[in-house]
Amino acid sequence: MSETRAAALDAADELAKCRELFTLDDDVVYLDGNSLGALPKHVPARMADVIAREWGQLRIRSWDESGWWTAPERIGDRIAPIVGAAAGTTVVGDSTSVNVFKALVAAVRLADPSRDEVLVDATTFPTDGYVAGSAARMTGRRMVPYTPGDPIGPRTAAVLVNHVDYRTGRLHDLPAITAAAHEAGALTVWDLCHSAGALPVGLAEHEVDFAVGCTYKYLNGGPGSPAFLYIRPDHQASFDSPLPGWNSHADPFGMTPDFTPADGAVRGRVGTPDILSMLALEASLDVWDGVSIEAVRAKSLALTDFFLELVTLESVTPAAHAERGSQVSLRCADAGAVMKKLIARGVVGDFRQPDILRFGFTPLYVGFADAERAAAVLAELV
Ligand SMILES: *Cc1c(COP(=O)(O)O)cnc(C)c1O
Repeated sequence: MSETRAAALDAADELAKCRELFTLDDDVVYLDGNSLGALPKHVPARMADVIAREWGQLRIRSWDESGWWTAPERIGDRIAPIVGAAAGTTVVGDSTSVNVFKALVAAVRLADPSRDEVLVDATTFPTDGYVAGSAARMTGRRMVPYTPGDPIGPRTAAVLVNHVDYRTGRLHDLPAITAAAHEAGALTVWDLCHSAGALPVGLAEHEVDFAVGCTYKYLNGGPGSPAFLYIRPDHQASFDSPLPGWNSHADPFGMTPDFTPADGAVRGRVGTPDILSMLALEASLDVWDGVSIEAVRAKSLALTDFFLELVTLESVTPAAHAERGSQVSLRCADAGAVMKKLIARGVVGDFRQPDILRFGFTPLYVGFADAERAAAVLAELV
């Protein structure tokens, strides 16, 4: 019965054709694209050209002739529409951890000095909390745990929130929390690691101040591909980076001892970009041509609904669509051992301490038959 339903859902899926763009095995259900996205098939040939020709033959000339120097802002402009941002607002480079630092310190530097608190969601991905704790100490503020949705008061300088909780898959209310922060006179920094490429974010529409995010999860940029940083247009001129480097200088080749920041999102750059990773990311973004993030979201919800219907373990991922990202997290005794068995049976998710089985649904390459197979194998194991 449900097998025919999965087949019917796959047949009606307008994104089903995107799967052919990725290197995947027919006998593996890959539900870990929220940790490392799959490889788009055309990327190896593009990288072979980057290495053999752009690096091997053109060498130093490639900074100019192959567009290496401007890659961070050019690739930022390709990510921007996926997260609802305008061109010129987003720059790619460094890790998410480093960009959390840049964005949060810059946000606090814009806040009134009397505001002495930095709110960080209490269940944040650890690196954000570590970085925020250090950023708060450096700027003479106090880091305070925040439950997304709680009131924000007059002592708050900035609020750092993970758009989707990495462990539970809970989607936080970005429009409402951003509006509440602004109402209280605070700035917002959103971490989009688990929402960029998975659902509409609407950075411009909701007037988010700063945002950062991964590109190796739902954006399939490759292991350790550089993160992105969004700076709202009206904050760009006052963005005071705690990591000013020669790449964020108005005249990088002037080699002057004093620092004059560049205009625009380029100000968020630091040093020489990691070109190989960056160009792999750029190539991987071709899979988004002609794909709308709304269609991705619709399929993501249909997939996670379908999977939730089939599984019997307790879900810690909210049932309400407005509160769900693109993953399903199930509570399971001995989750670590169960995940090992699942992987041995060709169902690849991951395990998060202490008792969570995590399944990421990347709509560009996961289908309904995959969800069904994962649920069936899981049922046999628990
Ligand atoms: C994956 C993830 C990160 C990873 O940061 P890196 O600097 O790339 O290691 C950070 N924050 C969140 C919320 C994540 O999900």
